[in-house]
Amino acid sequence: NLSDKLDKAFHVLKGRGQITEINVAETMKEIRRALLDADVNFKIAKEFTNRVKEKALGQDVLSSIKPGQLLTKIVRDELAELMGGEAAGVDLSGQPSVILMSGLQGSGKTTFSGKLARYLKTKKSKKPLLVACDVYRPAAIDQLHVVGDQIGVEVYSDRENNDPVTLAQAGVAKAKELGCNVVIIDTAGRLAVDETMMTEISSIHKAVQPNETLFVVDSMTGQDAVNTAKAFNDVLDFDGVILTKLDGDTRGGAAISIKSVVNKPIKFIGTGEKMEALDVFYPERMADRILGMGDVISLVERAQEQFDEEQARKIQKKIAKNRFGFDDFLSQIQQIKKMGNMKDLMGMIPGAGKALKNLDIDDDAFKHIEAMIHSMTPDERANPAKLNSSRKKRIAKGSGRSIQEVNQLLKQFEQMSKMMKMMQGGGGKRMMQMLSQ
Ligand code: GDP
Ligand code: MG
Repeated sequence: NLSDKLDKAFHVLKGRGQITEINVAETMKEIRRALLDADVNFKIAKEFTNRVKEKALGQDVLSSIKPGQLLTKIVRDELAELMGGEAAGVDLSGQPSVILMSGLQGSGKTTFSGKLARYLKTKKSKKPLLVACDVYRPAAIDQLHVVGDQIGVEVYSDRENNDPVTLAQAGVAKAKELGCNVVIIDTAGRLAVDETMMTEISSIHKAVQPNETLFVVDSMTGQDAVNTAKAFNDVLDFDGVILTKLDGDTRGGAAISIKSVVNKPIKFIGTGEKMEALDVFYPERMADRILGMGDVISLVERAQEQFDEEQARKIQKKIAKNRFGFDDFLSQIQQIKKMGNMKDLMGMIPGAGKALKNLDIDDDAFKHIEAMIHSMTPDERANPAKLNSSRKKRIAKGSGRSIQEVNQLLKQFEQMSKMMKMMQGGGGKRMMQMLSQ
């Protein structure tokens, strides 16, 4: 897949101490091949690698200290750029705002309609109305009602009316009557692009003049997704794309292609069948997904800026000697604080996220932790095992925290020490190398 290909491409770079003009060219070729394999159109792939190459030369990658990383960053940034800059919301300015769904059957329109309604209701304090315009399958109307019930949003349907155009119009009228400020019109799709479907969706579009027309597409459909997007865009000139089913194995190469061909922003992504499984689209995250690196790149960037190598080495030594104490813990926390939100950061380390889930420290909690550690004597800090219950009581009193919080800190400290030890072997080793590169 694309990620493997890119891994290979970057490997070419990383594998050699010296980067030459030749292996830059080689890498570009690999990247281009990877994009082509992910169904990116040849012209787009070529333009992309040309741009990356230009940037790389402009930033003098060849003579930089960390050429591999710099090139990785350029590829990632360009990829994000290619998928569209800022995350774009939906137009909610209408009275009510009419949002029209389009897309093939099975792409996820009905599911997304529900997700969007829930999102607008809970996150934007809107009062949405769902309108069932898939008149071909009775089950489709039932499905939307089930969705509406789940999220507590009203659904308008009329089983007597089998004309989607007047249904949509009646839906908008109903919304006004009910005082709803958003109308989400769920439509029927077919298995492939055909004229009947296009005529129907375009008639609905003309009749209700939506504020926002969204094209919903299954991200697993590859190159087909691009052709479908193009066909719908030719007729509807839609405002945005919704990529569904990104919870599967797919790396989302379709995102690159679609964005390049129709030049419309990708607005949301679907990441599951549940109503909560909706995310705003962030090009950088998608680029990372396509590159298959988690957020490793940004971790490296941030870490490089902030991490005190010397400190890290000292602490490593202490861990090795089992002499990791609260002073080290404190200075670790200070390091981490410099690097940004801790949970964010830990989430970026492949594999570490899970181990750290119960190490629930947020920025505010840092203050409390620091207060508690400051209430310990130097001896206690160096020898946490000495912390018996009377000492704990004293620390709680001194720092103005509860005894439970002190206990929790001790637990966190233990987890941290354990994790540090874990990081010494296996995966952690790699990270340490990365950090001290
Ligand atoms: P429609 O025909 O375009 O209305 O598509 P539906 O909303 O009925 O979705 C078709 C199928 O895809 C259903 O089984 C949904 O549960 C499923 N589905 C929709 N969106 C997602 C998603 O983001 N992730 C996953 N895994 N399944 C999805
Ligand atoms: Mg449907």
